[in-house]
Amino acid sequence: MDISVVIPLYNEAESLPELTEWINSVITSNNFSYEIIFVDDGSNDNSWQVISELKEKYKDNIKGISFLRNYGKSPALHTGFQVAQGDVVITLDADLQDSPDEIPALYQMIKNENFDLVSGWKKIRHDPVLSKNIPSKLFNFIVRIFTGIKLHDFNCGIKAYKNKVVKSIEIYGEMHRYIPVIAQQAGFLKIGEKIVEHRKRKFGYTKFGLNRYVNGYLDLLTVLFISKFGKKPMHFFGVLGTIVFLVGFFSALYIGIHKIIAVCNHIALERITQSPFFYIALMCMILGSLLFLTGFLGELISRSSSDRNSYYIDKKI
Ligand code: UDP
Ligand code: MG
Repeated sequence: MDISVVIPLYNEAESLPELTEWINSVITSNNFSYEIIFVDDGSNDNSWQVISELKEKYKDNIKGISFLRNYGKSPALHTGFQVAQGDVVITLDADLQDSPDEIPALYQMIKNENFDLVSGWKKIRHDPVLSKNIPSKLFNFIVRIFTGIKLHDFNCGIKAYKNKVVKSIEIYGEMHRYIPVIAQQAGFLKIGEKIVEHRKRKFGYTKFGLNRYVNGYLDLLTVLFISKFGKKPMHFFGVLGTIVFLVGFFSALYIGIHKIIAVCNHIALERITQSPFFYIALMCMILGSLLFLTGFLGELISRSSSDRNSYYIDKKI
């Protein structure tokens, strides 16, 4: 099969017939074989009903998966990725903001230009300026700096992947914002970008509020940390803990020796406990030990976790 289109959706019943019709006409006019995988993320409108009707109409070209409740866009994508059989996997938002007309060009970029992943770039956006466009520019700038990936629109819903990419990355929580980062860490380095048309939301409303930025920021730290130290937490906490502890230890030693010398020479000095440095030294030693312990616990956890030896194997002979 040439193309799998994976569509996560939450309460998008009105958009689905038009979207499916459009995808179908674009793909069939290019003579590709395809499947559309709808992942209904626990909708409570009649999205699932609509998907069932579309299944009747388009038969084998439609696959539907429905969650028991609303888990989020990332779990929906992950589930769709697991069943996708096409050589090229393309994700689209269900709300008609992404145009299916981009599909053939994306397919060509993956197939002919050998990209592992191509991300859309909504260069001209039709979203609220203050609540979305400006924060999003800042967000993309920061991720670009920290990851070194030259993309303008990490969280764009429309993306295309080689099949093996989606099979070897794990998208959980709200990590869909960082799929290019996760793919890069898995070793897929040929990441491209294509300017895509962005349209106004025709039906329904956005499913993410302003808290997307708080969560997005926390998730960025997680992604960066896990990639660097996820399998060797001691290399982070151990180093930091040792440094902080040693600073505290030698400061305390200095304060102590200084005091002893003063006492021996009958020089009047303030009590050790009256000096702020004493408390700083004490705190450093406690903090240092805690950091060290944290690293040690991290090691124990990663040692016993099942994915400790899961690596992506590319080729075998
Ligand atoms: N979505 C989902 N589960 C959720 C929230 C959103 O599957 O919990 C889907 C939603 O139906 C849409 C896509 O993710 O197809 C993007 O969501 P939305 O359009 O609300 O985000 P925005 O375009 O405002 O960033
Ligand atoms: Mg949208």
